Amino acid sequence: MMRLYSTRDVHRMQEGVSFEQAVMRGLAPDGGLFVPENIPSFDPAFFEEKLPNMAFPEIAFSVAAQLLDGAIPREDLQSMIHAAINFPAPVHRLNNSVSILELFHGPSLAFKDFGARFMAQLMAYFNQSSQQELTILVATSGDTGAAVAAGFHGLPGIRVFVLYPEGKVSPFQELQIAGWGDNIHAVKVAGDFDDCQRLVKAAFADHQINRNIRFTSANSINISRLLAQIFYYFEAYKQWISETKGVADKPKLVFSVPSGNFGNLTAGLYAQKMGLPVDHFIAATNANDVFPAFLASGHFKAQTTIATVSNAMDVGNPSNFERIESLYQENTTERSTWNNIRAAIGSLAVSDEDTLDCIQDVFRKYHYLLDPHTAVGVFALEAWKANNPDRSDAHGIVLATAHPFKFREIIEPLIGEELQVPAQAGTMKIATDKHFHIDPDLEYLKKLLLEKTI
Ligand SMILES: *Cc1c(COP(=O)(O)O)cnc(C)c1O
Repeated sequence: MMRLYSTRDVHRMQEGVSFEQAVMRGLAPDGGLFVPENIPSFDPAFFEEKLPNMAFPEIAFSVAAQLLDGAIPREDLQSMIHAAINFPAPVHRLNNSVSILELFHGPSLAFKDFGARFMAQLMAYFNQSSQQELTILVATSGDTGAAVAAGFHGLPGIRVFVLYPEGKVSPFQELQIAGWGDNIHAVKVAGDFDDCQRLVKAAFADHQINRNIRFTSANSINISRLLAQIFYYFEAYKQWISETKGVADKPKLVFSVPSGNFGNLTAGLYAQKMGLPVDHFIAATNANDVFPAFLASGHFKAQTTIATVSNAMDVGNPSNFERIESLYQENTTERSTWNNIRAAIGSLAVSDEDTLDCIQDVFRKYHYLLDPHTAVGVFALEAWKANNPDRSDAHGIVLATAHPFKFREIIEPLIGEELQVPAQAGTMKIATDKHFHIDPDLEYLKKLLLEKTI
């Protein structure tokens, strides 16, 4: 049975928690992040013989079962995987040395759908035996709330309240939050994202609310979200080996990961630890360059956030850094942890100017559209190759984290064309009976939480 420990409990002095406890709590009591006690690997035959013939949901199931080691009965896990992983992750070959792993075919058009959907399934499952309804409270600047709302919509025994800042999310994002209705309550706050976050924190600390409802957060650091992100690295590898079938001298494989909070990159590192034959990772950031600065200096220093065109990656203090550190620090000193990380991961900060040029350049050459986050990944891959001539024959797979349509205001002027509206964006309307507008004051939120039932 899988046990999990806090990243801050380096010597494993505490007892550790079960997978269920880690999912339902989100954050460890000491403020650290939960990490698995060990990460079991597949034997090489799995990659050569089994993986090539498996469908994506089957791959997801095998990876989850391997990691969870009996924490959830197989049939239950299987049905949750099938409900969560119900859209594809195709690899699109851009040219001879670069492919794009499209992770944006889910309901909110971003990769966060994978993690949010799997987490939603697990929370509903773990709450089944409880007599009490579970309330999920989440503050969002746009993307997370959209993925969480879609993931939890219609799940029994769960109410969701998504707080978002008035006037700060795009009309498309607002529909993705407020268009579901039923058990999804959209709360527009007359304030900014910080006000939303402050309200959520205050609600979690409030005694009256805690006495009356059972609630948890759908935080991006939840271990269940990370697990679901491991699945698609395996899926990408499967597609890549089928494409290069019969090639005698297969190039080495490099993943370039557009990164903000570093959950996606951490999931890739876990996939590698499970035996996936990946040669190297590139952590591609925008101007928020804490991680490349750490690789260069050996010192991790949080920064004030800088606003960029790849705004879902505007993170000045990436929380999953603790998980990466803990993965590489086994029996080592601080300095060799740094060396271990540098050997496994390259990192580059990409300016807005280079990001926009890259979108234009790729569109001209290949008639393929990148969103700004994915463009950061593509640009970083090319730059890394130029800096590392010994690796210039590697094949790079860039994680496409969002659909270009989400950023049409940025992209359309660059290419001089209007974008097609994807199916997911066409049909929603605000569900007015589950849409609320409040001032940033806990009393108003409290009233909603205590009075509204599904
Ligand atoms: C959240 C997000 C990222 C950053 O992912 P992390 O796992 O936080 O590093 C990148 N691109 C998009 C579009 C996102 O929504």
